[in-house]
Amino acid sequence: MAFPLQPLPYALDALQPIISAETLALHHGKHLQAYVNNLNDAIPGTPFETLSLEDIVLKSEGGILNNAGQILNHNLYFAQFRAPKQGPNLPTGQLLTAIEQAFGSFATFQDQFVQKGATLFGSGWVWLSADIEGKPYITQEPNASNPIQKGLRPLLTFDVWEHAYYVDYQNRRKDYLTSIWPLVNWDVINHRLTLV
Ligand code: MN
Repeated sequence: MAFPLQPLPYALDALQPIISAETLALHHGKHLQAYVNNLNDAIPGTPFETLSLEDIVLKSEGGILNNAGQILNHNLYFAQFRAPKQGPNLPTGQLLTAIEQAFGSFATFQDQFVQKGATLFGSGWVWLSADIEGKPYITQEPNASNPIQKGLRPLLTFDVWEHAYYVDYQNRRKDYLTSIWPLVNWDVINHRLTLV
């Protein structure tokens, strides 16, 4: 059973001007497609061909882990956005309360998240995740890593591989990290927190 390229839940130009259609076409249509093709080429005849993406990430290593991790990470990344929201864009309910308790305020959380993304050396991902009790954590994950490998539930992630921002922001990774908050669909993030 081959893993599909998860379709974008919006048009290629829906995230403009914050993330361009050119970036999305490359990022989703070329980079993610390549990870999907690589995994589908690598797993036939291995114990991984019948596993979920999450189980492959937890149980594999080497090239299979790298490609499965990148597919899982990108599926979460692309699904969490929608067209830019005007005005304040905040989580609600249980998630907002948990963030305020852990970080003091939503603004402080945002600053720390941006800082962790900006200071991750090389390629990787900055994540907001929750432990089993719903306590939130910000982590830097190198390359294709995902917080499920630490027993955490992934909620929100910003991709800091250069391919995620170079067309729109060149080398200004921090500008990209501070610019994309109006795209976050907090309904999706809230849902990830409450999934059983
Ligand atoms: Mn990427």
